[in-house]
Amino acid sequence: MESIGTYTVHGHAHTVASAHESWTRPVLIHDAKPGVVQRACWPRAAADQVTLDCGSWRRHVATAQRPSELGGDDGLLGVTLTQWASGFPPGATLLAPSGFVPAEDWGTLQAQVRHWTQESVDRVIPFIPTDQGMLRRGSRDQFVDQVSALPEGPVALLFAAKGEGLQSSEVLDGLRWMVTKLERVWLVGVQPLVALDAIAHGAQRAYVGTNSTLRFPSPPGVNGFNKNAKDFVPGLLHPDLLEMRSPGVYADWYVTSHAPRCPVCGRSVDGYTPTPGSRLRVVDHNIHAVSQALAALEMDAEFSTPGPASAHHQRIGAALAHLPLSRVLPVSDYDRVLMNLLRLDRELFPVPDEVSAIL
Ligand SMILES: [Zn+2]
Repeated sequence: MESIGTYTVHGHAHTVASAHESWTRPVLIHDAKPGVVQRACWPRAAADQVTLDCGSWRRHVATAQRPSELGGDDGLLGVTLTQWASGFPPGATLLAPSGFVPAEDWGTLQAQVRHWTQESVDRVIPFIPTDQGMLRRGSRDQFVDQVSALPEGPVALLFAAKGEGLQSSEVLDGLRWMVTKLERVWLVGVQPLVALDAIAHGAQRAYVGTNSTLRFPSPPGVNGFNKNAKDFVPGLLHPDLLEMRSPGVYADWYVTSHAPRCPVCGRSVDGYTPTPGSRLRVVDHNIHAVSQALAALEMDAEFSTPGPASAHHQRIGAALAHLPLSRVLPVSDYDRVLMNLLRLDRELFPVPDEVSAIL
């Protein structure tokens, strides 16, 4: 089983289920009735492959009295975790129905941790959906301390933001530190560069969203973030640059040269049209392109084991691949996460002069 999984919604689930890579990758279904999607799309899936997220974190802001949608210590709804879990297909792994914990709301975080410590069921993974502010310098120590109180086993974490989250050097640095300390994190709802970096630093799993609202999750009450898609075609993972732009953006970059083709599906990165079928092919491509990037990280001959150094090496390759496009792609337009991770790395690893010059 690969360490990078797919986080998907009902509309993409059939595409994800039919992608060849889906049989080696963990899949997380985000839906108010995820069991229905699972029954329809994953009839053959192994029990440990599909996890269900009922999306409580998008509807319910947690409080110290009611940390989950099931009710709190006061037994508001009178539903136990065992009763709740029995409503899903047998064998499926479930993310706990946690409410969203606002940034630095330590009392609520403590109540949620206590809730999932006192009430646990084997196939339910404790889940802390919270704000990326928890990864800032002044908060990350306390966050890790409190989450560490959860019993042994995986802990799913989601970091939401208004707009595009997990971009700044400060929170990316906090994320690295957090996955290194906790060593059992399932990171939910991120973009490929963040997933690759988290795995390299010790996360057990990272789930990459199949659309921008699942790559950049928003807190409850905030509209799901929808990254501007040129010509209404969503972001496509460029296998060399590790950028995620609409194919129409790539068409501008390669207006005087040949756009590269994906070695798996054979399509050029600008070869998609604004049709429903083409949009689903973007989803399909992104799944195998993430697998390819992960395989490249794991099989880098320069390093005996994948880790921070091999992830850095991969990003250097992506940065160097940008340079021939300098006439159409100014450095200020490079992916912000790529650049900020390279800036964090330069304190630790050698950086070639051509890359150093653009950081
Ligand atoms: Zn492809």
